[in-house]
Amino acid sequence: MTKRNRPWGYQDPIEPSNPNWELDPQTIAVRGGLARTGFGETSEAIFMNSGFTYDSAEQAAAAFREEEEHFLYSRFANPTVAMFEQRLAALEGAEAAFATATGMAAMFASVACLVKAGDRVVASAAMFSSCYVVLTEILPGWGIETVLVEAADIEGWKAALSVPTKAVFIESPSNPLMEITDIRFVSDLAHKVGATVIVDNVMASPVLQKPLQLGADVVMYSTTKHIDGQGRALGGAILGSADYIKNSVIPFTRHTGPSMSAFNAWVMLKSLETVNMRVERMCASALEIAQKLENLPGVKAVHYPFLPSHKHHDLAKSQMSGGGTTLAIEFDAPQEKVFAVMNALQVIDISNNLGDSKSLITHPSSTTHRRLPLEVQAEMGITPSTVRLSVGLESVNDLIHDLTNALAIL
Ligand SMILES: *Cc1c(COP(=O)(O)O)cnc(C)c1O
Repeated sequence: MTKRNRPWGYQDPIEPSNPNWELDPQTIAVRGGLARTGFGETSEAIFMNSGFTYDSAEQAAAAFREEEEHFLYSRFANPTVAMFEQRLAALEGAEAAFATATGMAAMFASVACLVKAGDRVVASAAMFSSCYVVLTEILPGWGIETVLVEAADIEGWKAALSVPTKAVFIESPSNPLMEITDIRFVSDLAHKVGATVIVDNVMASPVLQKPLQLGADVVMYSTTKHIDGQGRALGGAILGSADYIKNSVIPFTRHTGPSMSAFNAWVMLKSLETVNMRVERMCASALEIAQKLENLPGVKAVHYPFLPSHKHHDLAKSQMSGGGTTLAIEFDAPQEKVFAVMNALQVIDISNNLGDSKSLITHPSSTTHRRLPLEVQAEMGITPSTVRLSVGLESVNDLIHDLTNALAIL
């Protein structure tokens, strides 16, 4: 394994000298992408600088001609951001990554860098509301056609992917109903008509689902969610082949400017060190809570992919290693009663973020998805009686206690 310190620059990818020794994801999460300066600091350094200096005008010219490896400007690349990109790429099993200021910047750039007027995009219908706005309002305004397909509509996917298509955008599991799209099946269809398959893997996180291994071409994250996971910083990332990142994403982002700040990249780097442990623990608690809630009076349905009652349970089991950290709960009560249950919670906070160490509950119909007409919400399975619970790192016993206590008012 490389132990060299360098004055600056990229460290070689960590690779043990024994070819039969493949590092576990947890080791990659702690050490992937680490590049130390000549000071030999243990923790990753934060390079809070916008620009870089050159020894000579000739060196600057050579750097801009890409004949010499040298950072040019932090909108293009920055050493701390590069460490984060390399660590996340190693964890995902992707050749390359580009980090962005937010998850939406990643989502927009991942699709926009591929399409122009007259092109066609196919997407799974149930998705995060800002992704929905990008695909159904912003891109169509620029002459790009978008076709939406229900997650599990096999015939719908076949029909939508029977003509040339530039990009397929899949959110699986979807936010908030945790609907599952068959990534392998859709990727096979998409590749036959020349489409690049992009998976919004935010809800599963890099810990519970590996879309590239299922045949997708690109993965995008809101690193605001499980990757930071502690409610501190916004961020996003696009991961894929070296060719896609270098020749499609970077020529687009370099000039449109959605780059991640070095400080946020440093926060995210430290967060990756614990992401496996946090997500595994939150996922175990989410399953326990889902099982418990399903049998409580006042609860009409619990949508959680690893519950046998979930409509895509088998598919979820085949492509995810855990059911996620978030569940949707449909109460047998009108909106005002649902609000009363939320208001009665003493540990769980009312907040629309997710993937956080603090458990958070939200009412999608009146908050995150309120921009969508009620009938579109209904198509996504969201009713005024639905809440989304993001399960955090508190004791699961306290969370169950809090929920049963609040539910007693129904
Ligand atoms: C939060 C979220 C996004 C957007 O991420 P931001 O960091 O808030 O911009 C995109 N997709 C999904 C599924 C999300 O949950």
